[in-house]
Amino acid sequence: MKQLDMKSLVSYVALKVLGGSDFVLDALEEYLVKGDGPATVAHRYSISKHQLRGYAQRITEKSGGELRAKKVVPILREIFNGTEPVVSKTQSGMFACKLCGQTMPKEDTEEHIRKFHKEIVVLTIKNSMQKLENIKKAREQIIFTSVNK
Ligand SMILES: [Zn+2]
Repeated sequence: MKQLDMKSLVSYVALKVLGGSDFVLDALEEYLVKGDGPATVAHRYSISKHQLRGYAQRITEKSGGELRAKKVVPILREIFNGTEPVVSKTQSGMFACKLCGQTMPKEDTEEHIRKFHKEIVVLTIKNSMQKLENIKKAREQIIFTSVNK
């Protein structure tokens, strides 16, 4: 049986969010968790159905199955709430890096960040894993408290 690989999930999502695809978790929540149709969700975020299914497939694989993916996506949303992309869309439709000013097409943003700003990727993953630990602790606390009442 496949294992839930939280570090791999967090790393995958971190690069997506930093690279300007910060809609990914919202889209996956609507598609995987709420069960909205792929065409509807893809249109809402101006991506193709193929891209949406690609994201869903990666998240499902790394979660170790669809049922677990459904539980993991809301947790990932909580963890990445407040994490900002390091690129922003320009008027020409290109993406500009907020850290070094370079402009590039959307498909190059993740590679750019991985290559030139690895430290922010490492930091984002580290902070996100810490948030995950805090969430876990908070939930254990609730269980622990209710058991002892
Ligand atoms: Zn840059």
